[in-house]
Amino acid sequence: MKKEEVSEYLKEMATLLELSGENPFKVKAYYDAGRIVLSLDDFDGLVKEKKLNKIKGIGPSISEFIYTIYEKGSHPTLEELKKKFNLEFLELLKIPNLGPKKLLTLQKELNITSIQDLKYAIYENRLVNLSGFGKKTQDKLKEAIKFYESVKGKLLLNEAMALEEKILKKYEGIYPVGQLRRRAQTIDCLEFLLKEIPLENFAGNLKEKDFVLEGEVAKFNFEGYSVKIYKGGENFYKKLFELTGSKEHIEKIEELGKIDDNLSSEEEIYERKGLDFIPPEMREGIGEIEIAKRHLISKVVDFKDILGAFHNHTIESDGASKIEDYIKVAREIGFKFIGIADHSRTAKYAGGLEKEELLNQIKEIENLSKENNFLIFSGIESDILLNGNLDYEDDVLSLLDYVVGSIHSSFNLSKEEQMARILKAISNKHLKIFGHPQGRILLGRKGYEVDIEKVLEKLAEGKKWIELNSNPLRLDLDFSFIPLAQSLNVPVCINPDAHISNDLKDVFYGVWMARKGILFKENCVNAWDIEKIKEELNYYEKRR
Ligand SMILES: [Zn+2]
Ligand SMILES: [Zn+2]
Repeated sequence: MKKEEVSEYLKEMATLLELSGENPFKVKAYYDAGRIVLSLDDFDGLVKEKKLNKIKGIGPSISEFIYTIYEKGSHPTLEELKKKFNLEFLELLKIPNLGPKKLLTLQKELNITSIQDLKYAIYENRLVNLSGFGKKTQDKLKEAIKFYESVKGKLLLNEAMALEEKILKKYEGIYPVGQLRRRAQTIDCLEFLLKEIPLENFAGNLKEKDFVLEGEVAKFNFEGYSVKIYKGGENFYKKLFELTGSKEHIEKIEELGKIDDNLSSEEEIYERKGLDFIPPEMREGIGEIEIAKRHLISKVVDFKDILGAFHNHTIESDGASKIEDYIKVAREIGFKFIGIADHSRTAKYAGGLEKEELLNQIKEIENLSKENNFLIFSGIESDILLNGNLDYEDDVLSLLDYVVGSIHSSFNLSKEEQMARILKAISNKHLKIFGHPQGRILLGRKGYEVDIEKVLEKLAEGKKWIELNSNPLRLDLDFSFIPLAQSLNVPVCINPDAHISNDLKDVFYGVWMARKGILFKENCVNAWDIEKIKEELNYYEKRR
């Protein structure tokens, strides 16, 4: 089990203890342990040798708790505590900004034990005069509930793809359709189409609980998520087409002529209309049909074109892997280079690098690059400060191959203030890549106020790049902005923002997004010739 997961269990334990009215010192000890665990470099070693109680802040009972969680994935005390509360009540904890303290007040003062109760209390304005709350908090909670309900039951792309693999292994003769086949950013429902087996027979074989047959669709839950299986058989390829594309895509294709019933493949649909075959992930109706008409689909960036990625974190800041670990994974996945961009000094919460540490890392990278005969670029993910400046002085920044500038604080500025801050940062001659441009967390938070068109215009002026952050929680830049980036000649740089070497592979979620946005190879930095990249980064001049 990863230390991140153990930390979550510690937090859950602390929360439940707090809700049970336990001694505040005990509660705090569990919260603290949750944070301490994250900062341990050799967590696995310490657990295996049972040496956790040697760490300041982790006593014998918390050590014991961690060992059991690590081994079994649960702990009897935790399970017992959970039983004290009903699920509806615990669900309230999932609402952003609603911690145990506030929850206890709501329960005690207003008898609130479920989200429905809370919604009604807000409707009646009961939180306005409640101590510790007020009108502002009530409005915020109202928004938070709305957001929570809108994302409930949805899946991130990586989660959906993991379930897809399990489902396809378990059930034969079904084919993914819908958002899943289109590799959408988030997925509401896992949908599949049966090829030959009659739906009734398929349904009869299912042993899933709560299984329902509704006309041409079989519905059930798989690991808590809703799955739909559509009846196939006759006109299979037409159905496959109709169940895959977005509404816009299907309408535009149908405008070119009726879809025939008897087809021997999906390719035939496009062929008969004089189009290139449009792969499922591109069927969003944002310009792919024009590209297919001009026979340019093969120019869209593909998985095999990706030669490397620039934004990755090591143990020097908040990552869990060394540069050597990254080289190993990079080689495995066919990369020809990597870039290291740890957090900058203002990002104290993420172990941001002080000037000396950064200078040492630049040297280390040069040595490792030579020793391993593998190209590594030196970068930094610089916080964009509130005044729009970058971290570090010019003489330090000029030693780096590139600077990724990112917003990690003050998300709540007005649009004018935020844009002034961002545009100033982009004008800084050292900034090369604008990182996770929208600042959103999928199914988690909306992101800050930003005018992407203005950002792209500014980037274009300075011949800079925009990041498509491919962490499946971000997928930021939203793919729908890619056509605009291309029309303004702003190259797109797909970055995994890896914090552990294996997550370099997250770059491929970004490739799905790039393909959805019809990003041409020539506009994707990761697919450029190495010499072109070096030229753009003034690589040789910096080493003269
Ligand atoms: Zn970042
Ligand atoms: Zn980062």
